[in-house]
Amino acid sequence: MSDIKIFGLIGKKLSHSFSQTYFRKKFIENGLKNYEYRNFQINSIEQLPKIIDLFPKLSGINVTIPYKEQIIPYLDFIDKKAKTVGAVNVVKINRYENEKPYLKGYNTDIFGFELTLKKYLDNFDKKALILGTGGAAKSVNFVLNKLDIENFYVSRSKKNSVRYTYNDLTTEIVKSHKLIINATPLGMYPKIENLPEIPYKGLSNSHILIDLIYNPALTKFLKKGKKYGAKIINGKTMLIAQAEKTWDIFFQ
Ligand code: NAP
Repeated sequence: MSDIKIFGLIGKKLSHSFSQTYFRKKFIENGLKNYEYRNFQINSIEQLPKIIDLFPKLSGINVTIPYKEQIIPYLDFIDKKAKTVGAVNVVKINRYENEKPYLKGYNTDIFGFELTLKKYLDNFDKKALILGTGGAAKSVNFVLNKLDIENFYVSRSKKNSVRYTYNDLTTEIVKSHKLIINATPLGMYPKIENLPEIPYKGLSNSHILIDLIYNPALTKFLKKGKKYGAKIINGKTMLIAQAEKTWDIFFQ
């Protein structure tokens, strides 16, 4: 009989968690009968130490909205890429006798996005717009920089790192950036009617639109792209790739 281990997900609203279904299935497939995956819905990141104390078998956690940045002060170690991006979506918890748990943070969204994008790299003029400036947007920026793709953030507000606000965007700007990534929650279930406010008229069949959202599979943002002939990609590939990488970290 294998040792009991618990893994889990922390976030604010977890009613539609992909991770729980995914990891429970993987445990069964790998014959890990005493492994559990739980959702920890918390209202504040300050509840994390209490969860770690209450569940001494908790060995790893996935982190979702809105805690990917807020979790950093609670870590004992942060992987280099996660540190550069400033966002952590996976934490491995090592426990040694008579010592406090040791928390190591990683970012597997970076891997997931890079894998999504790599298939299409040869097919576009290398200039990109990233919609949003949160943890996911920063992972996207990291990958685009690594691949030498010139990229600019689009935000609701002017900040140092931001080139354009939505009000600044013109049809010409959209025309000249052939890769556009939605890294905002706009259009995510249940608010599927929402979409980022950009001049969609600037899109063409030489554009690639990537939505990090995976539920629904076809967001309003992607529908608009399709209407103008753009290549459209949703967040499913990224989601699965980041989960596979998370598995490797949990079991390394
Ligand atoms: P987040 O930090 O909550 O938000 C990202 C950014 O979106 C915010 O910083 C904000 O940028 C912008 N934003 C938020 N609400 C908005 C609104 N009402 N109107 C316009 N812009 C708004 O989320 P995140 O963790 O970065 O995740 C973003 C999206 O990526 C989510 O839908 C998430 O599910 C998805 N995601 C998918 C995967 C995957 O594996 N497929 C992985 C990670 C994340 P400004 O304030 O600068 O406008």
